[in-house]
Amino acid sequence: MIQLYNFPGGIHPPENKELSNPGQLITLPLPEELIIPLGQHIGAPSEAVVKKGDQVSKGQLIAKAIGSRSADLHAPTSGVIADVSDQQVAHASGLKETCITLHADGKDTWHADITPANPEQLSDDEVRQRIYAAGIIGMGGAGFPSNAKLATDKTIHTLLLNGVECEPYISADDTIMQVDSDGIVKGTRLLMRLLGQVKCIIAIEDNKPKAIATMQAATADDAAIEVVVIPTKYPSGGEKQLIQNLTGKQVPKGGIPADLGILCVNVATVNAIHDAVYLGRPSIDRITTVTGKGVNKPGNYRILVGTKVDFILNHCEMDASANKVVLGGPMMGFQLPSIQVPLVKTSNCLLVPGVDEFPAADAAMACIRCGQCEVVCPAQLLPQELYWLAKSDAFEKIEQYNLMDCIECGACAYVCPSQIPLVQHYRYAKGVIRHKAQEAKQAEHAKLRFEAREQRLIDEQNAKEERRKARAAAAAAAQAAKRANQANGDDPIAAAKARVAAKQQAAKAQATDSNPEPAAEPSHKELKTAAAIARTKLKKAQKAFADAAATDHPDTDKLQVTVNELTQRSAAAAEALAKFESQLGVDPEAIKAAQVEWAKANAKVRKLTKLAPEDDATEAVHMEYQQTLDAAQKDLQQAESHLQSLKNPTEESS
Ligand code: SF4
Ligand code: SF4
Repeated sequence: MIQLYNFPGGIHPPENKELSNPGQLITLPLPEELIIPLGQHIGAPSEAVVKKGDQVSKGQLIAKAIGSRSADLHAPTSGVIADVSDQQVAHASGLKETCITLHADGKDTWHADITPANPEQLSDDEVRQRIYAAGIIGMGGAGFPSNAKLATDKTIHTLLLNGVECEPYISADDTIMQVDSDGIVKGTRLLMRLLGQVKCIIAIEDNKPKAIATMQAATADDAAIEVVVIPTKYPSGGEKQLIQNLTGKQVPKGGIPADLGILCVNVATVNAIHDAVYLGRPSIDRITTVTGKGVNKPGNYRILVGTKVDFILNHCEMDASANKVVLGGPMMGFQLPSIQVPLVKTSNCLLVPGVDEFPAADAAMACIRCGQCEVVCPAQLLPQELYWLAKSDAFEKIEQYNLMDCIECGACAYVCPSQIPLVQHYRYAKGVIRHKAQEAKQAEHAKLRFEAREQRLIDEQNAKEERRKARAAAAAAAQAAKRANQANGDDPIAAAKARVAAKQQAAKAQATDSNPEPAAEPSHKELKTAAAIARTKLKKAQKAFADAAATDHPDTDKLQVTVNELTQRSAAAAEALAKFESQLGVDPEAIKAAQVEWAKANAKVRKLTKLAPEDDATEAVHMEYQQTLDAAQKDLQQAESHLQSLKNPTEESS
């Protein structure tokens, strides 16, 4: 039994989970048309590998991942590709994205490559490859590709399965734990195998007694897996809140659970991993809760990815009086601008409230600074301050108030007596900040590429000039030899002598031509500056490249080229400096030793400065202190000049 802690804030809204009959799974009929958006995951949209008119089988690859945070997409059923075009997707703004439209042939024929396997006969790499090829992403809503999560370079000691499902109304995870505990446990053991020596915790809120009992029974024979029941409180399913609940530790600011040695995965994702490895099945469907008093047949449905919301709601008999459809739960979901949009891999709930279920909110009133929002905030933010700052477009300041740590749980808005739609303000501010950051990043990328290109052009021009001079010198030598031959007629010895003389003359001319005014050798200081600038530029480019690669930014490849160029340039500058310094007799080991001496002397002075005697101390004490301080400062000066003399031998002698 592990000790439970708590997390700050949180609320207890009505749960309303029984409405969707948790534990009963219904398979939705096959729709005639499926719309599969290419951007269902956190990274860059996948790239379609099919075109209009192609015949595809169920499970066949139809779009390939682009980058490490992207995921493959597969045909949810067999049929014909009707189009690859921009279509409206499930987004609050109603934006369009490239989608693949598939017309089902009704046969639901699996692709021949979809074959089961015995994981015991697969290597770890083969298991990882099957997970990658299945296009699995976090199904709890994060959309992070599972293979990328598993590829962490941190040491993991705990696999944390998130079966908390804290948001009201939703019971999809509850259902999957009840109906396929075997798949979840097998998937869990696969992950434990890939992660090495880890223990596993399956966390479930205490409002899901059947799921708890099922998972406890399924794991009873495995001491390495523990089902941990946590008290119901919203939002205890948030990754950071769950970890704090279970360990008492906070995920570091800007960090991830792996920084604490924990890998957190949703139970539905683990089930999909089981299907991929054991059955060879890609991620083409999911369990979605369809609920609310606005549908006559609420429940948990197995639905193909790409099924349109209107098809689902027709099947679930949406009430004609229902006037809105929310994708997600009542706390974190958003109202769909249209029901002609498709479900994606992360869609865990469709909520259709009855007319009296969520009465329209009264108009927002002024903030009365009651502080209730602050009390319930699980991220320990100051929601009312964030609200004021977002409202006044104070984007720099709002970042200092840690807006980006807001998990958009909506607890603050839930308790706000002034009915202020706080989360909308936060989303707006986050959108602006991300946009600005993106713009700044692009400008930085462009600057780096411009500078690298300019330098390359200068190098090319210099090389061209060198070649021109060499050609001119060779031509001059040839001319001189020709003239000498003519002048010496048939006398071969005289002609040979004349040729040698001409060559010497040409070489001399070339040397003079090449260095009309011999350029001054760069000084030690100039070489050091050049090496430092080259290093700084390289570091900047490396950082820009790492950021771009982590987010699958379209500039990634170009930045890689820039990094390669700057690496060469930096190495050349360092080599020139090292060569110069070795000629000067600069000794790196002696410099290191002198740096240590300087640091010691500096620390001594700083320490002494803090130990100044009080004003009322005796004169003798003051004098003794001053002498000690003077001596230490003198030592520091000597250490400094010794260090500088080693670093800059030429400057010392001048
Ligand atoms: S709960 Fe609402 S009214 Fe109260 S301080 Fe927060 S934002 Fe203002
Ligand atoms: S939405 Fe953000 S600010 Fe509001 S309670 Fe949740 S984490 Fe705190």
